[in-house]
Amino acid sequence: MIIVTRSTISESELDHIRERVEALGLRTHLSRGEHRTIIGCIGDEALLEGISLRSMPGVESVMAVLKPYKLASRDFAAEKTVVNAGFGAIFGGDAITVIAGPCSVENRQMLEMTSAAVRSAGASMLRGGAFKPRSSPYSFQGLGLEALKMLADVRRSVGLPVVTEVLDTRHVDLVAEHADMLQVGARNMQNFALLSELGRVQRPVLLKRGMSATVKELLMAAEYIMAHGNPNVVLCERGIRTFETATRNTLDISAIPVLKRETHLPVLVDPSHAGGDADLVAPLSFAAIAAGADGLIIEVHPDPEHALSDGDQSLPLDSFSTLMRQLEPFAVAAGRKLRLPVAARDSTGSQSTPAMTTTATL
Ligand code: PEP
Ligand code: MN
Repeated sequence: MIIVTRSTISESELDHIRERVEALGLRTHLSRGEHRTIIGCIGDEALLEGISLRSMPGVESVMAVLKPYKLASRDFAAEKTVVNAGFGAIFGGDAITVIAGPCSVENRQMLEMTSAAVRSAGASMLRGGAFKPRSSPYSFQGLGLEALKMLADVRRSVGLPVVTEVLDTRHVDLVAEHADMLQVGARNMQNFALLSELGRVQRPVLLKRGMSATVKELLMAAEYIMAHGNPNVVLCERGIRTFETATRNTLDISAIPVLKRETHLPVLVDPSHAGGDADLVAPLSFAAIAAGADGLIIEVHPDPEHALSDGDQSLPLDSFSTLMRQLEPFAVAAGRKLRLPVAARDSTGSQSTPAMTTTATL
């Protein structure tokens, strides 16, 4: 930790700061400049959490030297993490993984039709909301448990692992029973009770960036899940709020290489919620892959015009299949390849329960 003092600081204020820091077991180092003095604190920065250095007389600013995230930090792992959600849904490594499906599970027929189509187009995982975080309490809220059952059935019949959002701490076990990966939506990225609860489940977590969250806050949210015992976290950049109104959100392309530098966790991009417009999904997907993303999560609907949520940004089935073909050269240019779904399940439905997760490092 570095403490920058004010030019007006007195010797007694300086001594007081040093005494407080040293009383916590750290050493201090003074660097006296012409205009101000800087105090370097040497030792375990976590010990300083007990005092508010910033509020002490004579302090102008305080800068952390070490990263506040530890388990999520790139420094912490020797290699990049590969998260395996089972049945071919693998995130990280040398291939790009695509998740696709409707914003919301609306009925069994549309779910079956969509999952079969996205699977044959090359998606490795099915998405579909059962509990929907809607801005309006009057909008469609999702089919809840009924939708979870449909996801679990389609998962078995079509042979695609599934990811779905968990909104509430009370639903964590229920969702984990039905899905291979649990999604934390943008609106819940800093729901620390939910993040802590997800630390104890045996399922990977897809953690979406909050719409006004910094990269650091996203990593601290991942740290919560990891610190509570679950190392299987996949991050997702899904656009942030800016002054721009031409798009639903602004896809923060820079966040991708920044995250790849800062963390060993895989990074996905959601071009659907970023742009909010089906026409933008392809170019944003290309950009995401070029910037180093490990995969994409894309909203697909058999009839976007009649979708109960996010129809404007949902790709129809044929457009998704075209997009999958277009992604390949971008993956190759980025030194990657597209990860294909695992071979179809046998007709006895051997894919009966979601896989236990493992995290592998390459
Ligand atoms: C979603 O994936 O359907 C969703 C609600 O996304 P976000 O949390 O990123 O808005
Ligand atoms: Mn959506």
